[in-house]
Amino acid sequence: MITVLKPNTTEQQRDHLISWFKTQGIEVHLSVGSEYTVLGLVGDTNHLDVSLVESLSIVDSVKRVSEPYKQCSRKFHPDDSVIDIDGVKIGGGNFAIIAGPCSVESEEQLTTIAERVKESGANMLRGGAFKPRTSPYAFQGLRGDGIELLLKAKEKTGLPIVTELMDASHLPLFKDVDVIQVGARNMQNFELLKEVGKFGKPVLLKRGLANTLNELLMSAEYILAQGNPNVILCERGIRTFETATRNTLDISAVPMLHEMTHLPVIVDPSHASGIAKLVPPMSMAAAACGADGLMIEVHNDPINALCDGAQSLTPEQFDDLSKKIATIRTVF
Ligand code: PEP
Ligand code: MN
Repeated sequence: MITVLKPNTTEQQRDHLISWFKTQGIEVHLSVGSEYTVLGLVGDTNHLDVSLVESLSIVDSVKRVSEPYKQCSRKFHPDDSVIDIDGVKIGGGNFAIIAGPCSVESEEQLTTIAERVKESGANMLRGGAFKPRTSPYAFQGLRGDGIELLLKAKEKTGLPIVTELMDASHLPLFKDVDVIQVGARNMQNFELLKEVGKFGKPVLLKRGLANTLNELLMSAEYILAQGNPNVILCERGIRTFETATRNTLDISAVPMLHEMTHLPVIVDPSHASGIAKLVPPMSMAAAACGADGLMIEVHNDPINALCDGAQSLTPEQFDDLSKKIATIRTVF
């Protein structure tokens, strides 16, 4: 349920009402927007006398939030959420470009790529240390050593780092990581979602291979319900009957999610298409339809990459794309 307050409500009146809701056993999420202040009520609101709350002079309206995702809902928080990642903002007009190799392979590989993507305008570095691979015989990642290399690259470039967590038992290794990625295959690993919610670091949550937007938001809700509001959603393509591309980029997910939620939405055109040539046009489409950022795989030697070389841009291609994205961003 949400309670919208009238624009001239004083802080004292507002806090008084919040305290009253708390005495009713209800948790209150305060969202001070540009026009209205919204109190998001979480808990058992069934016993609340709606007409009593509506009758208060400071209350504009009271509405039940019908969506099963409450805290993620745009109704709960009308303004875009802006997430600050060690000084890099995303959401609410702040566009982030996350780039890096699919897998961290060596110090030289990672540092070279990190420096190149930074020069071209990336503001976060991503590299996989724990890799979810379809085959158990494929390269599984450098694991803890990969995280160490990411931290070294951060020290050199200053870029915040993003890397994937697959198992909550690895969380101690992630204490200095800036953004924890939960990959498509784990989007509905609810125990993992609860753990990253409790851990408190910003989370990049990728849409599952065959999940609806409603399911994506329910998964994000697991993280928010643990008191962690810093969730970035990522559209990375879904499975359809089409086999020419690795997945089908659901571009309409971006504006649709912006209607449904206040959380930032980014696009991963690399996993969505699986083909390096398609990454620039898909990235431009994502930027043009209002995505809050992009996550792009870049490799200095794609042909010899240990993972996802076919969809990786070279640093030169990434540089060219970054310039085009900057031009598209000028329309906003
Ligand atoms: C990845 O980002 O490295 C990855 C494996 O992507 P996804 O979880 O979207 O398949
Ligand atoms: Mn990859």
